[in-house]
Amino acid sequence: MATKQKSSTYHKSSKRVRTEVRDATPRVRESNGEITENNLKRVDYLSWEDYFMAVAFLSAQRSKDPSSQVGACIVNEEKKIVGIGYNGMPIGCSDDVLPWRRKADDELDTKYPYVCHAELNAILNKNSSDVKGCTMYVALFPCNECAKLVIQSKIKEVVYVSNKYHDTAGVTASRKMLDLAGVKYRAVNGRIQY
Ligand SMILES: [Zn+2]
Repeated sequence: MATKQKSSTYHKSSKRVRTEVRDATPRVRESNGEITENNLKRVDYLSWEDYFMAVAFLSAQRSKDPSSQVGACIVNEEKKIVGIGYNGMPIGCSDDVLPWRRKADDELDTKYPYVCHAELNAILNKNSSDVKGCTMYVALFPCNECAKLVIQSKIKEVVYVSNKYHDTAGVTASRKMLDLAGVKYRAVNGRIQY
């Protein structure tokens, strides 16, 4: 008997999770032409990498930042999620009071002195004693301040999607520190559209 199951596809462009209902009963055509239920597992299931990056992108949707929404997901060596975060103002500091703009005559009127990046929040939100040996999945290549946090917390690898600030001094410093510390980093190459 056919069973129905929900499947979800994440699309960055629509910034929401789209769900659809489809018949998920696997079937195969036998040599006699008869259609029977297939005994084999699905082969088009979500990869671990796409799964963790999708979690990072989903958490980014919690961000109040009008210009940049970044999420991070920290995964341990057992492929268990131990920390999730997104960019936002510090706890107790009203995000209705602090500024969100990127440019102002006075830097104190921009978001930059105040906002906590996704990597920082994901590390501090950890539900394990530490994140040593973990992999961080993050939408954007870490800035130099977050690279320091990654290194000091002994995260071993950073997987990212965008590196749009690659040529800035901050990200150049990031790469320099990550290289010196032996933290690996690579762009994700998944099938999901972020
Ligand atoms: Zn950062």
